Parts: sequence; structure tokens; C-alpha cells
Amino acid sequence: MQRNYLPYGRQWIDEKDIEEVVKVLKSDWITQGSKVSEFEKELAKYCGAKYAMVFSSGTAALHAAYFVMGIKEGDEIITSPITFLSTANAALFLHARPVFVDIEEDTGNINPDLIEKAITGKTRAIVPVDYGGHPVDLEKIARIAKKHNLAIIEDACHALGAEYRCESQLDRWIKVGSCAHSDMTVFSFHPVKSITTGEGGAVLTNNEEYYKKLVMFRQHGVTKDKAEFKIDLGSIPGDWYYEMQLLGYNYRLTDMQCALGMSQLKKLDKFIQRRRKIAQIYKEAFKDNDFFDLPVERHYAKSSWHLYPIKLKSKYKDKKGKIFTKLRKKGLGVQVHYIPIYWQPYYQRLGYKKGICPYAEEFYRRQISIPLYQSMEREDVEYVIDTILKVFKET
Ligand SMILES: *Cc1c(COP(=O)(O)O)cnc(C)c1O
Repeated sequence: MQRNYLPYGRQWIDEKDIEEVVKVLKSDWITQGSKVSEFEKELAKYCGAKYAMVFSSGTAALHAAYFVMGIKEGDEIITSPITFLSTANAALFLHARPVFVDIEEDTGNINPDLIEKAITGKTRAIVPVDYGGHPVDLEKIARIAKKHNLAIIEDACHALGAEYRCESQLDRWIKVGSCAHSDMTVFSFHPVKSITTGEGGAVLTNNEEYYKKLVMFRQHGVTKDKAEFKIDLGSIPGDWYYEMQLLGYNYRLTDMQCALGMSQLKKLDKFIQRRRKIAQIYKEAFKDNDFFDLPVERHYAKSSWHLYPIKLKSKYKDKKGKIFTKLRKKGLGVQVHYIPIYWQPYYQRLGYKKGICPYAEEFYRRQISIPLYQSMEREDVEYVIDTILKVFKET
């Protein structure tokens, strides 16, 4: 039986979500109302951070985090080439240079052991990415950052709802986004991510100074907070008065979106549970197969299972194009995450050389993401398993 098209990831929207959005549509404030700060408060509480600021996208949130960290022309940030373009592009927005460090073979995350070699006098921040929802080893990376006085901005766009723990305290699970080991953590609410607002993103932090700047950056660099004014308070001309103190953008998220976000957040733990369950079924069904390797979950990590990345064994590597096309034809919306960023023509023009991260390049040659999302039915999961095994056997 040919099932409907099964993408690699998609949203779950129910009647309750729709109801919450409609309520906002019928109210006075469809943007710049109270839903924004309500969503921010809930998000900060869920992650265990002091502050959360929502943005119009994960990309805008990354831009804001880099800006607030003071990243500017001539600076370098260290990140992984196996991530979505925005992680590196946001550094280019500020005329800074992304420096790519190779990945761990099993998790696809930046390899902490290679970070120190990449640090120069220009490095300002390390930007680790929780690839596929599997948290990076933040404790290890934080040790390096501290030694070299660098900031950590965690790109956790895949990892809302994921958890990790430290070697020194194995009985305590820490939520990604608590900022226990990062200066700022960034999320995305694109429909394929853990929860969605259509488009949207957030920055979480425990630092009040960063938070105040994030507020301004999101809204044209403007503050209406008297305590922040540069003008002599005695000479404020009237209640209309506001000040533009830095060059910001319009990166706001609407109340319609925040109402959806809040409703989605209530279901986040259920979503992750369902994703874990499907990952478990795949693991069982594909164990000891001769075609591809399965994703791992290290002992310190509880993944949010944003992706289910399989990696073709050597003898199938050269048939990836063929296998990919066959899977698509059979209705599996498989995808590849990711083409190493510095392979892109734009980055090539900037002078990045191919071959600088051999593990990342090998990962790219072998990797395919298969469907995994909370609204998959048992039959969908079985169709995916049967189809994949059949296609590999035939190829
Ligand atoms: C989705 C994603 C982003 C960008 O988020 P948008 O909301 O699409 O702008 C950035 N980094 C990673 C790792 C992502 O997966």
C-alpha cells in the first residue's frame, strides 16, 4: 500500500492550538500584546533560565545573540560545518568570520577535543550545535571557554526539550536552554522543530545585561525604559519619549504566534516522548542491519530526536543518490543534514577550502534523515521501516 507522503519532520497542530490563535485574532492586540511576554515566561520556566526573548525566527535570534555578545568585524566564532546555514551566516551579518571545527563521528556534533587548536586572538565565542537534538558535551566545552575567556552561544534549534548531565553529578539532568553552561542558548520554532509558531525563535539567558540589549535589538534599538535613558531624566520632554541607542531590527514575533507557541509548549514533553518512542522502534527494527549505521545517544545525553540520521555503510556510500531518489519515489520525504557549510559557493568565494573538516565531509557523504515526528502513526513507522529495508536490499 502506498501511504501518503511522509516528510522527515512536520508539525502537530490540534484543535486547542487553533482555538488559542483564534482567541488572539478576535482580541485587540494581534501583535505587541501580552501573549509575547506570557510565552517568554513559560519558555524560560520550562528551560530553567532567568530570561527568554522570542524573535521572528531562529536566524533572527542567532543574529541577536551574536550582536549582544559584541561580535563585530574582524572577530571569529567557532562552530561546526554540519549545521543549518544560519549558524554561520549570522556571524557574516556582523562581518565576523565563522571558523569551522570538525565533528565527532557518532553524534555529528562539534568535536570538543579539536576546539582549542582553532582558537586565535580573534576568537570571541564558541557556537556548538546540538545536531539532530543530541546535546553537545557542554561541560567539556564550558571548560575550554572558561580557560580562554570565550563566550558560549549554544545553537539549540534542534534541541528544545533535550537534556544532558555532568560527569560530576550524574543524577541531575539539566534542560537544554537553562544556560547552566552557556551565555545564551538559541531555539527555532520552525514547523520541523520540537514546537512551532510557524516561523519563530528565541534566545535564553541568565544575564540581565544581555537581556536588556536583546530587548532593544529586537525593536529598532529602541528603549522606553526610563532607567536606561541617556538623557538627563529632568529634561524628559513627555510620555511619548523613547531613545534609539543601537542599530536594531524589527525581529518581533506576533501575539498570534506566541499563543500558538504557548499551546504547543504544553505538549512539548508529550512530543519528545513520542519521538523517543519512534527512535526506539527504529533502533530495534534496524539493529545489526548491513546497510547503514544508526544514531547514538551518549550516556550524558537525552536527545530531543529532532532528526533520525542514518549513515550509509561504506559500500553504499556511492549509491546514496540512487537510494535517496528511490525512497522519495516511495513517499518518504528523506533529507540530507547537512551539506558542509563551507562547500557552499558563497563560502567558497570567501576563501574557505574544501577538505578542512574531513569527518564532516564523510558524514555528509553517508548521512540521510528518515521520517521522525510526533504525529507519525504506528503504520507510518512500519511503512518507513519496510520501505527502507526493501530499497536497500534491491540496490
Ligand atoms: C532551524 C535552524 C536554524 C534557523 O532557524 P529558523 O527559525 O529557520 O530561522 C538555525 N540553526 C539550526 C541548527 C537550525 O536547525
